[in-house]
Amino acid sequence: MSLSSSSLFSDLDVEVIPDAPLGAMTWYGIGGRADLLVRPRTVVALETLARRCARSGTPLRVLGNGANLLVADEGVDGIVVRLDQPVFREVRYNQTGEIQLMRAMAGADLAKTLMETVRRGMDGLVPLAGIPASIGGAIRMNAGGAYGAIAEAVDSVTCISRNGRRVTYPASELVFDYRSTNIPDPIILAAVFRLVPDDPVRVRARVKEIFEYKKSTQPLADHSAGCAFKNPFDPVQEERRSAGRLIDEAGLKGLRIGGATISRHHANFIVAEPGASASDVEQLLAEVRRRVFERSGLELEEEVVIWRRGDPS
Ligand SMILES: Cc1cc2nc3c(=O)[nH]c(=O)nc-3n(C[C@H](O)[C@H](O)[C@H](O)COP(=O)(O)OP(=O)(O)OC[C@H]3O[C@@H](n4cnc5c(N)ncnc54)[C@H](O)[C@@H]3O)c2cc1C
Repeated sequence: MSLSSSSLFSDLDVEVIPDAPLGAMTWYGIGGRADLLVRPRTVVALETLARRCARSGTPLRVLGNGANLLVADEGVDGIVVRLDQPVFREVRYNQTGEIQLMRAMAGADLAKTLMETVRRGMDGLVPLAGIPASIGGAIRMNAGGAYGAIAEAVDSVTCISRNGRRVTYPASELVFDYRSTNIPDPIILAAVFRLVPDDPVRVRARVKEIFEYKKSTQPLADHSAGCAFKNPFDPVQEERRSAGRLIDEAGLKGLRIGGATISRHHANFIVAEPGASASDVEQLLAEVRRRVFERSGLELEEEVVIWRRGDPS
């Protein structure tokens, strides 16, 4: 298929950006370009595009806020969809008794949405303070940490399936696991959250406390994708071990390949310094995995999502 003369989207209400600087749109700020970046303006356009991509075997990837993403230097093929048009950023509130339901579209910014719930004196998203994400990316990754995960506030999730159909799952049908979900569909479109009214002063104080904790433990201002590795399960101790501690114990803080270094602030953060390439980060990831395995016998699995040309989407 010739993507430049593609009939996939020529009749759809979308903006198409060929050869888009994808890596620069991520928190890492490094990596290659997307052959085609598509910004749909309507849900129908997105559904139709999903269906056509599946039928034609065209890879389809969804970009959220790019906070958990490394784009390989050679860039990515197929179509990258960005849900940043107004219809995909809407957030609506609906009070039913003590519980407030909030429906957020996948492209809404998590931090802004969280601050609006706080302004309204609502708890639910508070444990996610300080986590950069879109709503869709936070659901896909089951974003969270020491204070809780997004799953705890989810009432239902609406997706677009490979054949372009809208499907809604109640939370009871979904499995939210450690930094993952069992959602089978390529596109998360929206989610409904259960929020609980609370004292606005207390909610605000809790957000501040969690944010301060994150700021003191993580290099939030540096170019990274958050934690590079998941905490591995240790079959001997029968629990998850801190990947950061394992990396620290292997003496790897400060290790550098090219412009990529292991943060001295938090050993599970691989930071890109000016001039870094995605390949530097990938090599450092491999080196860390190798050295931690040598020392502890534990296999580290990447938490950061890596997009490479030719990989299945
Ligand atoms: C400084 C920093 C701190 C961080 N701290 C934390 C933390 O404390 N806890 C934590 O869990 N994470 C943390 N992260 C990682 C990141 O914030 C989360 O993984 C977040 O959920 C990523 O959301 P995103 O919208 O940026 O997704 P992206 O990075 O854009 O994408 C990640 C994955 O989600 C998929 N995706 C995105 N949107 C959709 C959609 N609408 N439909 C289907 N799939 C989609 C993408 O295709 C990709 O596979 C941190 C990152 C940074 C940079």
